[in-house]
Amino acid sequence: MRDLRPAGWVIRTYRDRPSLQPDQLYLEAIGRPVWEPEHRAAGLRQISSKTRRLVLERDGHACRRCGHAAGEAYADDPSAHVRLTVGHVNPHRSGSAAEAEDLITECARCNETVKHLTGVQMTKEQVWDRVTELRRRDKQELLDWMKADGRAMSQMERVWAMYRQLPAVLREDLKRDLDSLLGS
Ligand SMILES: [Zn+2]
Repeated sequence: MRDLRPAGWVIRTYRDRPSLQPDQLYLEAIGRPVWEPEHRAAGLRQISSKTRRLVLERDGHACRRCGHAAGEAYADDPSAHVRLTVGHVNPHRSGSAAEAEDLITECARCNETVKHLTGVQMTKEQVWDRVTELRRRDKQELLDWMKADGRAMSQMERVWAMYRQLPAVLREDLKRDLDSLLGS
């Protein structure tokens, strides 16, 4: 599965689909045919677990494209939960082991292949309408995100993203600790 995901395959588990049992998987989107020689390099290019960890930490455990953190529900689709993957910036470039600078943290939904396959892509005009509705200060901030090709996260959002990727038990612990720290 780890090898298929960078090639655009979307495989769901019980963690992002509550209707699934822990031993069930759901194939949501078929990616590039990694068994064909020209796709093998893209799909199966090795990402070491150390590199994967580095990339997730660098990106603050949040999708670089939409800013959602692992396990969060999407603002516009609360039934879907964010699943982060480490993908290649340029999936068609072949080579040896992938380095951190070739990689990006993104959620499954932001994966280009998924958008292509599900056909839920919005038109430029639809997006532009929303852009013009923003206040001037927000427009400026949006432009900064566009130029950086990523959402600038505040210190608090970074901590939130880190918190979100902890297992539920540890999140409970941390919540209790902060609660008692604040004496509420
Ligand atoms: Zn995303």
